[in-house]
Amino acid sequence: MQQTQACPLCKNSAEFDSRNHGNRKHFWCITCVEFQISRVAEDLLASSIPQWRSQNSEKAKQSNQTEVWVITKSDAPREEGVAYEVLKGEYILRSELP
Ligand SMILES: [Zn+2]
Repeated sequence: MQQTQACPLCKNSAEFDSRNHGNRKHFWCITCVEFQISRVAEDLLASSIPQWRSQNSEKAKQSNQTEVWVITKSDAPREEGVAYEVLKGEYILRSELP
């Protein structure tokens, strides 16, 4: 069942399906086209710089018949004094999506 909320990337009205036992959302957005985002990543994006949202929106627009842009929290270890990515984005085959 599809629900409606403001797109976490562009803030326009978007539709989503709950996936992976509610831990992930699959979005369809007029602007961003299509992407999946984990609950944790959604919270992180909401409090991050706008540039991250626009960057992910651009990537999501390139989702196609085969692959979908997926945004999750990076599980890379935090290292002292080393910049690291908090969020991870990658194209995942539709057949491998939750
Ligand atoms: Zn959007």
